[in-house]
Amino acid sequence: MSERVRVRFAPSPTGPFHIGGARSALFNYLLARHEGGTFVVRVEDTDLKRSTAESEINIKAALRWLGINWDEGIDVGGDYGPYRQMERLDLYKKYTEKLIAEDKAYYCFCTPEELEAEKEKQLADGETPVYSGKCSCLSHDRVEEYLKEGRPHVVRIRAPKEGLVEVDDIVRGKVPFEAANIGDFVIVKSDGVPVYNYCVVLDDALMKITHVIRAEEHLSNTPRQLVIYRALGFEPPRFAHVSLILGADRKKMSKRHGATSVQQYRDMGYLPEALFNFLALLGWTPEGDEEILSHDEICSRFTLERVAKNPAVFDIEKLNWINFQYMKQLDADRLFEVCLPHLQQAGRIAKDADAATLTWAKEMVWALREHIQYGAQVVEAAKIFFTDDYAPENEETAAVLREETAPAVLSAFVQELEALPEVTADTVQPLFKKVQKGLGVKGKFVYMPIRVALTGVMHGPDLNVIIALMGRKKVMARLQKSGLLQ
Ligand code: GLU
Repeated sequence: MSERVRVRFAPSPTGPFHIGGARSALFNYLLARHEGGTFVVRVEDTDLKRSTAESEINIKAALRWLGINWDEGIDVGGDYGPYRQMERLDLYKKYTEKLIAEDKAYYCFCTPEELEAEKEKQLADGETPVYSGKCSCLSHDRVEEYLKEGRPHVVRIRAPKEGLVEVDDIVRGKVPFEAANIGDFVIVKSDGVPVYNYCVVLDDALMKITHVIRAEEHLSNTPRQLVIYRALGFEPPRFAHVSLILGADRKKMSKRHGATSVQQYRDMGYLPEALFNFLALLGWTPEGDEEILSHDEICSRFTLERVAKNPAVFDIEKLNWINFQYMKQLDADRLFEVCLPHLQQAGRIAKDADAATLTWAKEMVWALREHIQYGAQVVEAAKIFFTDDYAPENEETAAVLREETAPAVLSAFVQELEALPEVTADTVQPLFKKVQKGLGVKGKFVYMPIRVALTGVMHGPDLNVIIALMGRKKVMARLQKSGLLQ
C-alpha cells in the first residue's frame, strides 16, 4: 500500500461493548499497526436517545484493556477533530448547504403520513418502497415560502435513478446494488440532525480515512454512502466488510449464546492478551498452523487479504483453550491477581484478609493453575479447600471408597501423617509409597481413596500439595469423616 493508511473505529455509545465491535476495532488497529499507519477512534453519538457518556467510557476502557490503543481521536486529539459527531454539526451543516446550493440535495416537506401512504401503495403494487421524488422539483420560491412558514422538513440527496452502484469490497469482491432501489434518501432529519450515512461519509472523507473496515451489516449502507461521496466530490476509501460472528449453532451471536460484551469476559477473568489473540482469529487466518500469537506477531502478520468471507464462529471452547495457554504462562503473582477478585466475590477470601491468608491463597491458586482456564473458574476449582460438606461426585468416585483396601489405606495414612513433625508437600510425598509398600497394594489404591475422601473428586492438583494446603487438622478431620478409619 503506497498511501499512508488511516483507519478508524467509530462506535455508537449506546450500550455494552459487543464482541463484534471489539473485533472491528481490532482489525482496524491491526491494519494500522501492520502498515505503520494511524488508528483513529471517534464517536457516532447522533442517536440522542440511546447514546450515553457511560457507554463511551466503557468502550474506551475495554479498548485500552484489550491493548487496542489509538493514535488520534477522542481523548487523545488530533488534526481532524472534533471526534464526536454531535460536536461536528456545524461542519455537516456547511456541506449540506453546499449540496443544496449545487442542487445535489433538496428540502423535502412531505409529511410522515404522505410518505407512509406512498410506501403502502408501492408495497401493494409489489414495488420496492422508494421515495417518489415529489419534492425534488419544487421551485426555489416554493421552497423559500415553506421554509418561511416553518414547515417541518428533511433534506434528501439526489440519487441516481438507474444503473448500478457497485461496492468494490476487499473481503467480498464487487457487490452491485440497483440504483433504482435507493431513491432520494434523507441525509438530514427533521430535527436538523444528520443521519449516520451522511455523517460517516463526511467524517471518513474529512479525516482522510483510507480503509473502512467494519461489520458486514453495514454493507447495505455502503451504496448510499457512495452516492454521497459522489455528490460531495470526495474519493471513497477502500471498504472491507467483515463477516458476522455466529454462535456455535451458526445463528447470529446474541445473548442467548452467553456473554456478548468485552466487559463480561473481562469480569469473568479472561486475559486481555488471550481475548486479543482470540478476536484476531475471528475471521482472520494467519499463514501456518500456529494459533497462539503475541500482540506483535499478530500486528506484523495481519493483512486484509487473509480476512475470510465466511462467517466466523464464536467457539467458547476455543477461547477457553487460548486463555488457558496464556494463563499457564503467568507467574504466581499475576495469576493470583487474576484469580483473587473471584475468590473474594465468592466469599472464599475476605476482602481484608491478613497476610498469612493471602500467602496461603496464593499458593493454593498456584496449585490449581492446571485446572483454571479463566479467572472465575478458580472458585469451583478451589471448592475442595473450602467445602467440608461434600460427597463423592458420582458413582464411579463413590466406588473408590468401597474398595476392599480403602479402610486399611486410609488408616495407615492417618498414622503416618500423625507421626510427621511438619506437614509440607515434600514431607507428605514419601508417605504414599510407605503405605503402598506396607500394605502391598498398587499406587492407585493408595492415591485414589485418599484423594476422594479428602475432596470428593478423582482429579485435581497433586495430592501431596492438596494435603499441605489443607493442613494436618483439616485432613485428619476429613479422613475421620469418611467413616472408614479402623
Ligand atoms: N457507529 C457504527 C456502528 O457502531 C459504525 C459504522 C461504521 O463503521 O461505519 O456500527
